[in-house]
Amino acid sequence: MPISLPQSYDNLLKLNVKGNPLGYDVVCCLCGEAKSLFFTGRAVERGSVWLDENSQAVSITIHVPIAKCLACGGHSRVLSYEIFPYKAYTLAVIERCIDIYTAANSELGLRKTAEKIGGKAQPDHSTIWHWLCGMGERLYDRAGNSVMRKPPPATSLLIEESARKISSAIRQLWLNNPEIPSWKYKSISRKEQLSACAKLLNTAKLLFSEASYPLLKWQQSLTSLFYVTQWSFFTQKKFMSIQHFNNSQVTAISFQAPEEEMVNINLEMGGQNSARSPPNSNVEV
Ligand SMILES: [Zn+2]
Repeated sequence: MPISLPQSYDNLLKLNVKGNPLGYDVVCCLCGEAKSLFFTGRAVERGSVWLDENSQAVSITIHVPIAKCLACGGHSRVLSYEIFPYKAYTLAVIERCIDIYTAANSELGLRKTAEKIGGKAQPDHSTIWHWLCGMGERLYDRAGNSVMRKPPPATSLLIEESARKISSAIRQLWLNNPEIPSWKYKSISRKEQLSACAKLLNTAKLLFSEASYPLLKWQQSLTSLFYVTQWSFFTQKKFMSIQHFNNSQVTAISFQAPEEEMVNINLEMGGQNSARSPPNSNVEV
């Protein structure tokens, strides 16, 4: 899990000088030691999608600094608060998509939301679907976090810390689940995910009403407390169990076997040209 600092990307590049300490309260994700992390002056390149001055999505190559831990000798990537680990899109793009789609009285669907972002790196509507799913699940601290090496802090912890340090009014706001138009969901879990995302944006706007990107501002504020990307979330196929089922083996039970004995037959799923038994034929055991 990369380390996240409450610095902008531009500032982070300036700090990446060999021997520069990351900060005395930044803890190594590998060994848990504090005061042991130092910039190496080296960086790795990776693609990243940001919003340009016209709020359109544009893809650029960024340099992610590498830090070394003097306690364990391990290396960690260091991200600015705008960048999500393992995701090409930065938080500003994701925040804007969630805001457009879940805002009260929003009549835009996923495709229209993507079009509204625009730009050469405009996200696909299915990508936005996954973001809403992953973020929604993350806000409930449900599936997804367990597969991450170091899960982000629990949502309840972030809300409580923000209530204590920024505004206690968010405690009450967090109890209310915004209404979502019924045409935007077909299941209760999807309704919960969308409502949670809308609540996150509403809360961010209450905390940082002056900010152009309140969730991004909130992330910066929280990163100075925890040094990991606070609102990061995981998108995985597990959330779509209906579309992506485990097709390794399926067990069928036949009632046609002799002696009325139940027989287990393993049907290889996904095999090429597998023969199908005609109706009413004897089952080979
Ligand atoms: Zn270490």
